Amino acid sequence: MYDYLIVGSGLFGAVFARQATDAGKKVLVIDKRPNIAGNVYTEKIEGIHVHKYGAHIFHTNMEHVWNYVNKFATFNRFTNSPVANYKGELYSLPFNMYTFNKMWGVVTPEEAVKKIEEQKKEAGITEPKNLEEQAISLVGTDIYEKLIKGYTQKQWGRPCTELPAFIIKRLPVRLTFDNNYFNALYQGIPVGGYTKMVENMLDGIEVRLNTDYLENKAELDALADKVVYTGPIDAYYDFKLGTLEYRSVRFENETLDKPNFQGNAAVNYTDAETPWTRIIEHKWFEFGKDDEGNDIPKTIISREYSSEWKPGDEPYYPVNDEKNGKLYEQYKELADKEEKVLFGGRLGEYKYYDMDAVIDSALKFAEKEL
Ligand code: FAD
Ligand code: UDP
Repeated sequence: MYDYLIVGSGLFGAVFARQATDAGKKVLVIDKRPNIAGNVYTEKIEGIHVHKYGAHIFHTNMEHVWNYVNKFATFNRFTNSPVANYKGELYSLPFNMYTFNKMWGVVTPEEAVKKIEEQKKEAGITEPKNLEEQAISLVGTDIYEKLIKGYTQKQWGRPCTELPAFIIKRLPVRLTFDNNYFNALYQGIPVGGYTKMVENMLDGIEVRLNTDYLENKAELDALADKVVYTGPIDAYYDFKLGTLEYRSVRFENETLDKPNFQGNAAVNYTDAETPWTRIIEHKWFEFGKDDEGNDIPKTIISREYSSEWKPGDEPYYPVNDEKNGKLYEQYKELADKEEKVLFGGRLGEYKYYDMDAVIDSALKFAEKEL
């Protein structure tokens, strides 16, 4: 009946479904959730597009991916500029001249460099061996103590001295007054929410929700020549070689009867005592306006708590350590032998993909397959 059964309506599944349909193939998309869009799903509550599975900011350097998503959505001019709250003191992120000025009163880039060098020298670090040493080498001890140490410990559940240095290198350090968190050419949020963008990708395509592939495998397999599976690869094999681990996040959402809670989409709580890592105020992704351009009288916030993952929890971030990497390779060997089933996406490839990377990967996969 179908050329392809696509398991999962997240970005990987939706992009492949669109490309296959445009190439003249007949496809059926299924998802076990009651909604499309996977982890980028947004739900409209009180006129606000709430990012249900964590805040998502689209950013990319890939022009072809930017052009592709713009076929399905108009992007607004949102630029991610989180604020750090350390025991009531507020600092600009990522680390830039505003941060250095607030921390030390320095005014020029030369003064900021001098201050960082002094603190680095005092700490006696030459070759950074862990996240703590790397952070101090990049921004000095004061910023490490107030803006990095507590936050990182909460986020990863272990001390900075036991974490790899590369994690902190993701964050830009700038000697300019630029608060943009990302070094990307293109950035924004789809007007009307991510769900609408994915809906547009799936326009005219048959979708069945509340349908778990693994629970109805034989029956569903019989419907199509090939299967594109974007669920967890270990679940596909009934965890027979072991369970791949994830880092988990718990969200606590609250609707408040006031128009403005924190004046910014993201505020990071960088001390060790506050139990949450950050608070997202969803309306600021769209400048506080609803779809008709009106100011919204209420607001919705999500507190994020980093938590240890256990089997059965929602899988969020793959753990890229040696143990899990090896286990994935063993599953991949099995997957490569499948004749009818192809694996893709964040869970199917056990890979931390940003949205632009998963779209790029789905486009390449489609080109090869179709
Ligand atoms: P998913 O979106 O997870 O889709 C997989 C789908 O498969 C799901 O809908 C699931 O229900 C379905 N499924 C699984 N198993 C079955 C089954 N047995 N039967 C039927 N259906 C099944 N990226 C950015 O670029 N910017 C950001 O700011 C950003 N923030 C993020 C924040 C968080 C907390 C997380 C976790 C990720 C973030 N990302 C961000 C990454 C982004 O979420 C991913 O790149 C993207 O969602 C991956 O899409 P996917 O289709 O591979 O997977
Ligand atoms: N980080 C920090 N303080 C902040 C924001 C980030 O110390 O206010 C550190 C933290 O260790 C984090 C890393 O910088 O893991 C990378 O930041 P990013 O926002 O990329 O974190 P992610 O949520 O993607 O891990």
